[in-house]
Amino acid sequence: MSGKKHSSLDRVLGRLDTLDPVNLTNLVQRLAREHAVFEDIFNALQEGVLVIDTEGEIEYANTSAQRLIGLGADELTGETLWRLVPGLRPSLGGALDDDAALPVVAREFELTYPEPRLVRLYLVPFRGGGREQSRRFAVILSDITRDKQSTEERIENERTSSVLLLAAGVAHELGNPLNSLTIHLQLMERKLKKLKSSKETESVAESIRICRDEVTRLDGIVSNFLEAIRPQPPDLAETNLGEVLAEVLAFQQRELADRGIILEAETAADLPRVMADRNQVKQVFFNIIKNAVEAMQPGGHLRIRSRADDDNVYLLFGDSGAGIKQEDLVRLFQPYHTTKPGGHGLGLMIVQRIMREHGGQIGIESKEGVGTVVTVQFPRKDRRVRMLTS
Ligand code: ADP
Ligand code: MG
Repeated sequence: MSGKKHSSLDRVLGRLDTLDPVNLTNLVQRLAREHAVFEDIFNALQEGVLVIDTEGEIEYANTSAQRLIGLGADELTGETLWRLVPGLRPSLGGALDDDAALPVVAREFELTYPEPRLVRLYLVPFRGGGREQSRRFAVILSDITRDKQSTEERIENERTSSVLLLAAGVAHELGNPLNSLTIHLQLMERKLKKLKSSKETESVAESIRICRDEVTRLDGIVSNFLEAIRPQPPDLAETNLGEVLAEVLAFQQRELADRGIILEAETAADLPRVMADRNQVKQVFFNIIKNAVEAMQPGGHLRIRSRADDDNVYLLFGDSGAGIKQEDLVRLFQPYHTTKPGGHGLGLMIVQRIMREHGGQIGIESKEGVGTVVTVQFPRKDRRVRMLTS
């Protein structure tokens, strides 16, 4: 509402008693229209909007607020916000009682009804309504359940890749010196055996044995560590790959948008089910999409399609990126093969391992300067057992 309009309205309101019935009717109609416009605007908002008084009593709730809290307009009017958000009233402290400046509040809280959700709340004081200029709060509620989940997933993915990075480092950095230690300890033992046995040589031999035991122990620690980061055998369940893909895309959407990538995902709604480990499949899709995105410039296209035949379900990830050099094609799945400055070269190795453990396959087609298509193939759950023809 512009300040000018407001003050002209104020002027009219100031002359209320001088208005004739026609003008009064006009005024009432105008007010009703304006009220309806603002009501519409508030109801179009995705955020919940509440107006409460200093007792926490709810005077107004837009439709989003009603939906978030899970109560109708009737149930909400007269309800107090302090009851809905425990701990909010105490955090406002004594500020409500005296005439001191009211605080602005931002906090997160959980709603359990009608379903568990995480809500961010902003509470802003204002003075308004009527002559007495009573003190009120505007309350803005946003549903941040999804943000929170995707942040947690992001952290989880980043943790996975940093563990892999660490593992790659450990394998490289410890493997070589451990080998060299073993060889030199063996050499020392051999040389020692050629010397005349004495108390001295025996004590050196004992030290060498201790060193070899320790080297063996270190070797064991490294192998166990590498063992530990290997993916678990898949926990198979009936899975709709389209759903899993949608989840991964929702999570990567922001990165796609930030990099100016145009996404065209057309997967069949009736894609046959496969037996798969949802989390591992997510890891597969995540890695493939990430590689595609990293190969493209802003304006690049990521095209995802699905296909099924009697035996398999296929997902195709096509990008318009840099493509892969012919000589690199054979090394794609090798651990630590990367052409990226910050890459660790483990993504496709993991994808391949997971696909194999699912009885599936991964295929890559690429044209340098044109783009790459990565195809993953999963056996259908209802795969027909081929009859031997007589
Ligand atoms: P990283 O991403 O850490 O390099 P990956 O195993 O995920 O390791 O991939 C290995 C290499 O394969 C990449 O460095 C890149 O050279 C190549 N590659 C994978 N996917 C694509 C793609 N869609 N387009 C172009 N090159 C790709
Ligand atoms: Mg990668």
